[in-house]
Amino acid sequence: MPAHRGCRLFFHASAWVAYALISVAAAGAGNRIIPEFSISLDDARQMTATLPAELRVGIMARPDKFLRLMAQVLDQPPYLFVLVDKLHALSPDYVPPDLVALKDYPVRTSWPHLMLRKAIIPAVLEMVGAAKKEGVIITFSSTYRSYDYQQGVYDREVKMYGKEIADRESAHPGLSQHQLGTAIDFGTISDGYEKTREGAWVAAHAWQYGFTLSYPAAYEQVTGYRYESWHYRYLTRPGALMQRQFFGDVQQYFLEFLNQHRPALEQMRTGKN
Ligand SMILES: [Zn+2]
Repeated sequence: MPAHRGCRLFFHASAWVAYALISVAAAGAGNRIIPEFSISLDDARQMTATLPAELRVGIMARPDKFLRLMAQVLDQPPYLFVLVDKLHALSPDYVPPDLVALKDYPVRTSWPHLMLRKAIIPAVLEMVGAAKKEGVIITFSSTYRSYDYQQGVYDREVKMYGKEIADRESAHPGLSQHQLGTAIDFGTISDGYEKTREGAWVAAHAWQYGFTLSYPAAYEQVTGYRYESWHYRYLTRPGALMQRQFFGDVQQYFLEFLNQHRPALEQMRTGKN
């Protein structure tokens, strides 16, 4: 995890505010990319300036499509896109308000006590049903974890493997997506998972139901965690599409961008105020 990211974020935020103000002032109806946002090509160029080059080029090649999909993302409940990573913590007392027990639904679980947010259950059932039709049973092995539970998980990892390894594999309490109640560890929770039939199905199809891989291979410098083929987070269907089509299928890039630009995007959205 680059140590300078906090500074970069601050710099981006102030640069963005400055240019958002200029843009709002300058936004004539003529230079909008699409009517739904008072965003010009110049605005889009500045907004994407700090993204990796290949992502920036991809967005600027189809900025209209990008903004139309962004409008759909902004229409989803914001809590589904909260950035939780090594720099963005949830408070110790954060508990999702609508947790339900998975044992009350027709899904296979490794443990009886697993819970998820009720809001994502329809997507869960849709995905499980689609897999089943193809003869694949999806197993839910770890879902919501409270702050205190995560503390126990992390402490145990440190005890067993030492702090360095624990930090690559297990989140500090408050920094785990599992506390959101929208993250899931599937199947074996091990490196072999992607080679199982279930793991291959999930890798190919989970996005179609709004679930995306949080810690992809070869992005440890970006996400802070080593590759976890079993760990997914629910980002809604438009969110999963956005991640795939415009952020190189790297959840961290997408959520960082959204976290940074959401206030301005919402402010520059027309007809929604
Ligand atoms: Zn996990």
